[in-house]
Amino acid sequence: MSCGRPHDVDCAEILDRVYVFIDDELHDQVDAAAIRQHLIECGPCLRQYNLERAVKALVARSCGCDCAPEVLRVKVLARIREVRPDVAER
Ligand SMILES: [Zn+2]
Ligand SMILES: [Zn+2]
Repeated sequence: MSCGRPHDVDCAEILDRVYVFIDDELHDQVDAAAIRQHLIECGPCLRQYNLERAVKALVARSCGCDCAPEVLRVKVLARIREVRPDVAER
C-alpha cells in the first residue's frame, strides 16, 4: 500500500505508528513531525489516518469503557466500509 512516491519514512512504518499518533502517545516529537509530514505527502496514508481517527471517535462515543475495543473497532470499520467505501477503500 503506497502512493508510489519515495518517502523519508516507509508507509508501513507510518501505518504502524498512526494509531499511536492518533492517541497522542508519541512522545518522540521527531516521530510526530515525520508522521505529519508523511501524511501531507502521502494520500493513501492520509486516508488511512482519517479512517482510524473516525473509528476512534465512534468507538469512544459508543463505548465509555474499555470493553473489547478491538471487537468494537472491527465492527465500526465494517460499518464505515458499508457507508463510506471511498474512505475505507484499501
Ligand atoms: Zn506514499
Ligand atoms: Zn504513506
